[in-house]
Amino acid sequence: MIIRGSGVCRLKKNVYLIQQHAATKLHYDFRIQIGDALKSWVLPKGPSLSPKERRLAILTFDHDLSYRNFEGVIEEGYGAGEVLLWDRGTYRNLKEASIDTCFKQGRIEIGITGKKLKGGFALIRTHGKNWLLIKMRDRYADDDSNITKSAPHSVKSGKLITEI
Ligand code: MN
Repeated sequence: MIIRGSGVCRLKKNVYLIQQHAATKLHYDFRIQIGDALKSWVLPKGPSLSPKERRLAILTFDHDLSYRNFEGVIEEGYGAGEVLLWDRGTYRNLKEASIDTCFKQGRIEIGITGKKLKGGFALIRTHGKNWLLIKMRDRYADDDSNITKSAPHSVKSGKLITEI
């Protein structure tokens, strides 16, 4: 079905995704669309569903939106290693200020609708490029789960990182 109207084709909702990345050190890359780019943070320990956990999120360089479905092997150079699409979906800004303003101010609150992560998450800048990713207390919060352990498979291929 083709919807005609404004004349521009744009994604109605903002993209959210997490890639598991077996580079020099295994980590997770948390990315959300702000404008035309994917703002990106490295999560050394991955995300948590427990509001008691404050997961370090190190701001890294933007990625192109076209990277949002990438899964495969980066052959050489920076970031060489396997990339698995660990989670994907959309997010909405929970604050009144624009997401761009929230990013600049270092206080982001978003509602995520992914396959694995759902509900509110806060990203709070602490120092320099260091931020914290914290699950907000809601019906999706779970203090006892270990989501990276219990749900390791790709949402794209069903593979494990060792199978990429
Ligand atoms: Mn990475």
